[in-house]
Amino acid sequence: MTAAPARSLALPSAFLAAALSFPAAAQVGQKLATDRPNVTILATGGTIAGAQPKPGEVGYKAGSFSVESLIRAVPGMEKIAAVTGEQIANIGSQDMNDAVWLKLARRANELQKDPNVNGIVVTHGTDTMEETAYFLDLVVKGDKPVVLVGSMRPATAISADGPMNLYNATSVAASLAAWGRGVLVVMNDDIHYAREVTKSNTTSLQTFVSPDRGRAGAVLFGKPTFYAKPIERHTSGSTFAVPLPDKLPAVLVVYSHANAGRELVDAAVAAGAQGIVLAGVGDGNATAAIIDGLAAAARKGVVVVRSSRVGSGTVARNVELDDDKLGFVAGRDLEPGKARVLLQQALTKTRDVVQIQKYFDEY
Ligand code: GLU
Repeated sequence: MTAAPARSLALPSAFLAAALSFPAAAQVGQKLATDRPNVTILATGGTIAGAQPKPGEVGYKAGSFSVESLIRAVPGMEKIAAVTGEQIANIGSQDMNDAVWLKLARRANELQKDPNVNGIVVTHGTDTMEETAYFLDLVVKGDKPVVLVGSMRPATAISADGPMNLYNATSVAASLAAWGRGVLVVMNDDIHYAREVTKSNTTSLQTFVSPDRGRAGAVLFGKPTFYAKPIERHTSGSTFAVPLPDKLPAVLVVYSHANAGRELVDAAVAAGAQGIVLAGVGDGNATAAIIDGLAAAARKGVVVVRSSRVGSGTVARNVELDDDKLGFVAGRDLEPGKARVLLQQALTKTRDVVQIQKYFDEY
């Protein structure tokens, strides 16, 4: 999908009035005073940059507004950071792809090395935010905060949540307390670790949760508090993507359900998948037909990772299925989308399932 042309922002009058009453907000896009942290916003699109055909209408087009418009819509931003915006893409995140991921990662890695930058914010659609966050968690090298943020309501909606989310995300990116924690997601006053977070509701403002280990912290009116440390390897502690590859390995996800046959597994192998993630029922289970198909794929050298469609909980080795015999990897508590992200990285290094299980145990 091609990037939508940037529109100038026609926000509801309350936001516009608030923005205009903060003169420094008009200077965003340039580096501001040096006594404040410098935060770079990398914009990719999503609902946070979405516009309704008319205010009050339900439908909208994601990725309609430019990064400058998004920044201008946040009154008081200049008090927490000197903000610079860069447009990496302007798409709905259902269209997120490897090319945008690699572009984003390259830029984030450059900014990690830039002594003038204190933190990075990535604006992003919420549909695949957790996958992008986890990808960056594995491939960005550095301890500076990288914070993904989006919104559930488009920029033109009544009570749009984007401006407060962006304000909070920028304050987290500007915070010393956020250093060394890996990639974070800030939504609806919560801070989540990239590895733990998932979207749990199609439309609710309170959609992002970290079901297994809880949220990383909270951020209220630009004041972050952290509750817990990240557990797994990430960013500086990750051995992946040095250097970043030009292309990521093909990994497909197969969904299991009652009465499922093995057609999609066979189609994935025929399409050239190097890896297949099973979005299994329950504890990463599937019909005998799917398991037969996956075992055949594994015998051909395709790496198979079992995960679950359930949304929380872990998939352990050798419980109802004999992973040792079948040659499978157990995906633990990574949801299928994130298991795909890790398997892509693992396949850049090896096809050895013992080593890949080790990666799944550590990341
Ligand atoms: N599908 C859109 C996206 O992910 C809308 C979801 C959102 O941003 O909230 O970009």
